[in-house]
Amino acid sequence: MATLKINVGKYYENLRHLEQLFHNDNRTLMAVSKGFGADEELIKEINKTNIKYIADSSIKNLKKIKTDKLKVMLRIPKISEVSELVLASDVSLNSELETIIKINEAAKQNNLIHRIILMIDLGDLREGMFYKDFDLKIVENILKLENIELLGIGTNLTCYGGVIPSIEVYNKLLNIKENIEDKLKINLEVISGGNSSAINLFMKNELSPVINNLRIGEAFILGRETAYGSKIKDMHDDVFILEAEIVELKIKPSMPEGELGFDAFGNKVSFVDKGEMKRAILAIGKQDVYPNDLIPIDDIEILGASSDHLLVDISKTNYKLGDKVLFKLTYGGVLSLSTSTYINKVYE
Ligand SMILES: *Cc1c(COP(=O)(O)O)cnc(C)c1O
Repeated sequence: MATLKINVGKYYENLRHLEQLFHNDNRTLMAVSKGFGADEELIKEINKTNIKYIADSSIKNLKKIKTDKLKVMLRIPKISEVSELVLASDVSLNSELETIIKINEAAKQNNLIHRIILMIDLGDLREGMFYKDFDLKIVENILKLENIELLGIGTNLTCYGGVIPSIEVYNKLLNIKENIEDKLKINLEVISGGNSSAINLFMKNELSPVINNLRIGEAFILGRETAYGSKIKDMHDDVFILEAEIVELKIKPSMPEGELGFDAFGNKVSFVDKGEMKRAILAIGKQDVYPNDLIPIDDIEILGASSDHLLVDISKTNYKLGDKVLFKLTYGGVLSLSTSTYINKVYE
């Protein structure tokens, strides 16, 4: 079994780093836990901070999270799950009045007030009411619902359409906020401006002042923003490290012999002849993580993988049979390894 090493101290430092910068700037954060399957030890680290919200896209994860913080459902709720939703979360992101009405009924049955953030689509074309079609009527209707509190409005960027946050993009949200507040004489507490792709603007002091909240997953896990994929100064990119053992180590050619057909996954294969190489087989495979999601720390090359083996060229190293090879991970890698049942988790 391969091991996922989780450095909870580094995760905590990543949380604290952004928390301090954001709170000094009078903005709040949501710590998003879906990237690591709401792992209990990491939730404990979030609990030690002053971050106000924990957010996840799965009701199952939200249910198991133990916290005093406000729990936020990130995925637009299903009508079929509103009863579970109001019990598992305090806040949800929404875009359909019909669903919000059903949430109100479920909240009433349970004697609860459920808070919602109304999502506005600023052109990324994922969730939310398209900003050009925004109509105050939906807000008026929401305000009539007794067991719903309109916590604010929000948007999601760089998700489907790859739209990068900018002052111009956020001005569309500012217009909608002012329209709601002026016409309906209410105050919106939260203007949630997106995910880790907005950190870059924040760091440059160019995040629109209208945005007083971000929902952050990847930046806390990997220490990087996601608009351009660059590392954030003073944050760790190695909270999660995969450790996989060498189970075979042999000098072999780089070209397979015989007529070539398809690999174990039905893909047509082709190879470049690089002569003989020191090839290692590691005890980790596609059932746990896709090879593209592994970032070797040493000077080694990933050659390919089957469902339970990873092949690497380790010609430039002194590795021996039984040694453990370390990898940093992409967001997808952290996600699949955290939720794989074949992986051992070790906290340090
Ligand atoms: C996953 C998610 C986020 C967090 O995105 P990161 O890129 O991991 O920071 C924020 N908002 C919504 C709606 C999400 O689904």
